[in-house]
Parts: sequence; structure tokens; C-alpha cells
Amino acid sequence: MTRDWKPRTRAVHAGSRRSGYGEMSEAIFLTQGFVYDSAAAAEARFLEAGPDEFIYARYGNPTVRMFEERIAALEGTEDAFATASGMAAVAGALMAMLRAGDRVVSARALFGSCLYILEEVLARYGVDVAFVDGTDPAAWDAAITPGTRAVFLESVSNPTLEVIDLPHVARRARAAGATVVVDNVFATPVFSRAVAQGADVVVYSATKHIDGQGRALGGVILGSRSFIRKTVEPFLKHTGGAMSPFTAWLMLKGIETMELRVRAQAETAARLAAGLEGHPAVARMLYPLLPSHPQHHLARQVLASGGTVLSFEVRGGKAAAFRFLDALGIVKISNNLGDAKSIATHPATTTHQRLPEAQKAALGITPGLVRLSVGLEDPDDLLADLTQALDTAARA
Ligand SMILES: *Cc1c(COP(=O)(O)O)cnc(C)c1O
Repeated sequence: MTRDWKPRTRAVHAGSRRSGYGEMSEAIFLTQGFVYDSAAAAEARFLEAGPDEFIYARYGNPTVRMFEERIAALEGTEDAFATASGMAAVAGALMAMLRAGDRVVSARALFGSCLYILEEVLARYGVDVAFVDGTDPAAWDAAITPGTRAVFLESVSNPTLEVIDLPHVARRARAAGATVVVDNVFATPVFSRAVAQGADVVVYSATKHIDGQGRALGGVILGSRSFIRKTVEPFLKHTGGAMSPFTAWLMLKGIETMELRVRAQAETAARLAAGLEGHPAVARMLYPLLPSHPQHHLARQVLASGGTVLSFEVRGGKAAAFRFLDALGIVKISNNLGDAKSIATHPATTTHQRLPEAQKAALGITPGLVRLSVGLEDPDDLLADLTQALDTAARA
């Protein structure tokens, strides 16, 4: 049944479970435990829990299960496991499947915390991680050697919006027997084609577009039933990165409006990118579908939309970027993205501050770079706010 539904119907109904009260809106099962009718029933459930049977909220909970089933129906995977944050999803997906001696190939342009997991944590546990320029297909071909266990990438990178040729990387990975893990935050579950393009495992920070209103941290790992239940679940249920039922409820309700929000945000983002590109204070505008984006041909092939985020370099370095940020009125200085409220971030001094200068330069995280997550405000108001702030930045 659910399989025949189109995405907007899945976003509203998939995964719903109703209690005996027949409530319309999904219930929050704010309980850590579940009562068994008898000692034998408890024993049987610990041996094997049925689809409507729960044991302990760290393992699963009815509200969390609704969220998992709804997002899996939307993404087109067999199953999902919800986590306490996006980073619990990234770390959980990788650590659940890897062991010392495994080889992982990863794109170099990653969100700061993802880079920490791949560069510091996995290395400490004896995993060999090779980093490549994600935009160079030949570099992937050379690095993905037979026996490579996993490939990791952000389909659109944070914050420089590099686009990865996922179909190419996935073909190469499949030939080598490697599992393709995609952090798909920027593509969003609405515009994502990651599974169709060969991703085996998709991870999201639900904190971003899924909540979409800046209220709660969350994450999710999506994949085949066997990967989720046999590899991910045992790791996460014992290490404790579970999503809370209240958060799952927020995320369930977030999914219902996600497509409408994300389409409106992406439309405004495309308009702002085109509208601000020629401003004298903008040295370089990065938005995947603009003709000036170095990979816009690839972007048109692999992305269903340019997304809700754009990045640009303010002419005049850090001082000019700070003048721009401080002059903003409607747009807030913060570091979330995908929120209903527009947010400007200075990656070099915040989200990517930890990186050595040389690494920042190699990743294009220049002192003038600003990342803009476009919200739901009126596009004309945003254009006016950003334009006056750029005018201020130009008046040194
Ligand atoms: C925000 C983000 C994460 C981490 O998500 P949290 O919910 O903040 O833990 C991971 N990857 C990308 C690309 C992100 O933007």
C-alpha cells in the first residue's frame, strides 16, 4: 500500500500507528519501558520482538518507530534507525560496520564533525581512511581498491557546495565490494536521489530540514533491513545513541510539512544566488545550479534542486565578512541550517575553526566565505536585507 503512495502522501501517513483511542495526531509514547503480561512473555520478547513489540526505549519506542518508518518510506529504503543527533547517525553508521584493518575512502570536503570522526576517531581504532578530492572521479577510481570496506561522502559538501558524482563513485565502489555511505543533509530527503544513484546507506541530521524549525537535535540512518537491524541496531542499542520519543514526535510532524518548506526555501535560495552574484561585494557565489558553479553540468544531472543553502565570498576577507554579518537584520548569525529562519554562518571561525589554515585553504574555506541557509521569509525582504548588508561590507 505505502509503496504505491507518492512522496507527499507518505510524508503525511507512512508509519502511522494508532493506539486504541484512535488519535488523529501521532501519540508521544513518553515511556522508557513496556509491561509484559507474564514472565514467559518477557522471555519471549527478549528472544525475538515482533514488529509491534518493544522492550526498552534505547532499543526502540512506538513514536520513534513511526518516525523511522515514515522517513524510510520517503527515502525509499527498507528500514531506518533514529539517533540522538546527526553525528550519532554518522558515527553510528560507520562504527557499527567497521573494524580495525578496514579501509575507508572518503571525500575530503566534509562537515567539521564528520571530518573528526573519519580523521581522528576511526584512525584511533585502526581503520585506514584515505581522503580524496571528491570532485575528481579519477581520484576515487584510484583510491577505491578491491577490498575497500566503505566509501563516505557528503553528496553536496558543507560549506563549499561541491557536488559529487555519486553514480560514478557508487559504480566503482560496488565493483570493489565497498558499502557507499552518503551524508545527504544538503540534498534533503525531498530532493535526494541518493538511493537511486547507488547509495547503500544514507544518513541525515534531522536537526536540519526534517525538523526544519530549529527545535531539536536528531539523526537517522537509512538502509536495507539487514544492515539496519543486524549491523546498526545492535551497535546503537548498546552504545546508547537513541532518539528520544519527544524528538521523534517533533520530527514526524516536521516531515509532514518538509516538502512544502524545502521547495519554498530552495526557490528563494536560487533567486538570492542569482540576485546577489553580481553585487560588487561578492567575489564568488557558490550555488550548484548557477551556470558559474564549477560543476553545474554535473549538478543538473545528479541533483533534483540546487537546495536551500548558498555560499559566497565577501570581497575583503574576514573583516568584510564580519561587517556583512553584523549588518544583517532579518538574517540571523548562527550555525544551524535548514531552519525556517534564514541563518548566516562564517565557517572559517565557527563550524570549521578547528582546521589548520592550510586545510581550510585547500577546502576553499576562505576568510571571506559566508554560508547562507535560506529560510521561509519573503524573498524580497531577504534580498533587501542581504543587499544592504553587502553594501555595508563594501564601505570599508
Ligand atoms: C549538521 C550536520 C551534521 C551533524 O548533525 P547534528 O544533528 O548537528 O549532529 C552532519 N553532517 C552534515 C552535512 C551536517 O550539516
